[in-house]
Amino acid sequence: MEKEHFYGRLIIKSKLTTIEQKQFENVVDRLPTIINDQCQRCRQIVTGKIRLAGAEKYCIYCQQLGRISEDDELWTINEPNDFNMVKNWDWPGKLTKPQMQVVTEILSHNQKHLVWAVTGAGKTEILFPIIWQGLKQRKRIAIAAPRIDVINELFPRFKRVFPTVTMCAMHGAIKDQYAYTQIVVCTTHQLLKFKAAFDLIIVDEVDAYPLSGNQMLWSAINNACKNNGRQIWLSATPTTTLLKQVRQISYLPLRFHNFLLPECKITLVNRWQHNLKRGKLPAFLIKCLKNFTINGLPFLIFVPTIEDTQAVLQSINKYFPNLKVMAVHSRDIERINKILALRQAKIQGLVTTLILERGVTFPDIDVIVLGAEHSNFTVTSLLQIIGRVGRKLSRPSGEVYFLTNYYCLKLYQVKKLIKKINTKAQIMGGRKYEL
Ligand SMILES: [Zn+2]
Repeated sequence: MEKEHFYGRLIIKSKLTTIEQKQFENVVDRLPTIINDQCQRCRQIVTGKIRLAGAEKYCIYCQQLGRISEDDELWTINEPNDFNMVKNWDWPGKLTKPQMQVVTEILSHNQKHLVWAVTGAGKTEILFPIIWQGLKQRKRIAIAAPRIDVINELFPRFKRVFPTVTMCAMHGAIKDQYAYTQIVVCTTHQLLKFKAAFDLIIVDEVDAYPLSGNQMLWSAINNACKNNGRQIWLSATPTTTLLKQVRQISYLPLRFHNFLLPECKITLVNRWQHNLKRGKLPAFLIKCLKNFTINGLPFLIFVPTIEDTQAVLQSINKYFPNLKVMAVHSRDIERINKILALRQAKIQGLVTTLILERGVTFPDIDVIVLGAEHSNFTVTSLLQIIGRVGRKLSRPSGEVYFLTNYYCLKLYQVKKLIKKINTKAQIMGGRKYEL
């Protein structure tokens, strides 16, 4: 282990070897793990009801990142920003006028800033000049998001644009050794391992589970940020609570290609779950699948539960044995490979739970929500699902079907919101795309 591993980090003493402890004990700041019953890593209150065999208190909230008990220590060294000057970056793209406007707004002050950008507005691209500005000032930067899929999607994009900058990805499924890098792309959970490390923390999908309303993860973000550091939050569907927390907000209702968000079509499919148990698919869904076999376009079918993914997949296989479709959900260990298979056109469609509502981009995709009436689909998640469609210039729109047992208020709310966003986008020059 190198000294730089301690820069801006919280490392548990007992996880180091005896040799490492001897080597670093005089160069690190040694912090207590629990003060006044508060865990110094995740800031949760340690009640002490559950104790170790030696009766020591320990924190049950952050133990997935390595257990810390009261007889241990957290070792750290102040972040020194020990980075080489970055000379160049590599982004051949060009920002649109509305995107440029957001960049100017962000760079015009130093406070917390929320970017409220419609799905497909190109919010990652907006970050490139902001990050470049920070790198030139030798700043250490974290790009964090609540979910692993988003990290897997973002990391290679930043690596391409800043090829000479030291950069690492961190999330629960990566077992690689930690390296001290200027940019860290990580899940918000991983920020618990840092202390005053970053001059800039960008939090993508700031309204998404599990970050939304999670006090521990918000503490992690605030503790990982330096006292004079800055946070930029990104969201397509911010909650009112989030909107109240920031003074500086940029709103971007127009997608990067200047075409409007696709409108959703609502279709009644009576007793779909009852029929599905008998291996039957709704006639409208069969019609859509027939179209897919003809046009060859990729598709996502969202269903409310994990059980539904299997039942729908089995029925599709029965009706359309030649259609290459897979099912995916949060507990599926093959999920990354399945997403890749769709991206590489090895399969044509995925039957999925809400796990793919956000953060993933598939070109030319159409989406169907089967059981849109189900309480698992909220207004926010349905808006996110619509946002999967028309992300690329090759096909800047697509079909969105909500198949529902009955008409319900939220479906009309979604329709109304899309109309509102599109009206604002039209004022900025947005156009409707005819399929
Ligand atoms: Zn803790």
